[in-house]
Amino acid sequence: MQSAAYPFATPLPLLFVKRLQAILPTASLEDSLQSFSCSRPTSFRVNTLKTTEPAVVTALRAEGFSLRRIEWRSGTYCVPPDQRRALTESRLFGEGLIYVQDLSSMLAPMVLAPKPGERVLDLAAAPGGKTLQMAAMMENRGELSAVESVRGRFFRLKANLKRGGATMVSTYLKDGRSVGAKVPDRFDRVLLDAPCASEARFDANDPESWSHWNLKKVQESARKQRRLLDSAIRSLRPGGTLVYCTCSFSPEENEQAVDSQLRRYGDAVAVTPIELPLSNVQPGLLQWGRHSYNEQLRHAVRV
Ligand code: SAM
Repeated sequence: MQSAAYPFATPLPLLFVKRLQAILPTASLEDSLQSFSCSRPTSFRVNTLKTTEPAVVTALRAEGFSLRRIEWRSGTYCVPPDQRRALTESRLFGEGLIYVQDLSSMLAPMVLAPKPGERVLDLAAAPGGKTLQMAAMMENRGELSAVESVRGRFFRLKANLKRGGATMVSTYLKDGRSVGAKVPDRFDRVLLDAPCASEARFDANDPESWSHWNLKKVQESARKQRRLLDSAIRSLRPGGTLVYCTCSFSPEENEQAVDSQLRRYGDAVAVTPIELPLSNVQPGLLQWGRHSYNEQLRHAVRV
């Protein structure tokens, strides 16, 4: 179904746009819809496991890249869309001195804030952008376990970690749903960057990007996320911290996933406030259709 009859000109599926309209504040709907069709700058992180920020800036400027520094995160820069290809073909990229990563993707490890020496689990890790970011935050000290269940993606994860010099990471080709039962109460911090319907990755110029999307897929994804999240909670030591995130808008994959664990675990878990250095954030939803979610979900953040 297409959205030709909808007031906003977008080729995205009508049902998706209607749901977005119910999720986002009215004032930001049009901008959000436009963001599916604009070409964005390419952001990257300096990999401090292998180099320094001044060395990268000097080298890339010498090669003619126009760098824009991202103020809210040190060692993070953007280049214009037309320099993306040259960046990914550069020596610095090839040698793992920089890692191309969406800005929003850098937020989850920032919120989790792993420290050197801690025990940390990345429960859905490939291709490893966040694992590498956490290894750098931990200065390659402590224990960082990265789990991935899809074989091809697992080997890509391993290659990226090797190229990025993340020597502290133990990788596991496993189903994350079984980890909590196998290693309960173990980790200081757990990241669950869950497999999802990837709605934020829809590209209005590429119908293939949403060709598999439908409500059934969203619900299937939500079922898997609930089991992964349960496993993530079980693997956490008492007093530990878990960050759950997706790149989907659907409440079934976000607030509802967390709400179901609050129902299951009661006072044994709590959702705590998050501070983000951004203005385009929205609190978690407390209502979706006929579902009401736990009040604590107001601490969740939509970017
Ligand atoms: N955190 C990654 C990064 O920043 O590079 C991206 C993770 S991606 C959103 C989710 C990953 O979970 C995919 O690589 C997918 O193959 C993997 N996955 C799917 N089902 C899984 C499961 N049952 N256990 C572990 N990983 C799973």
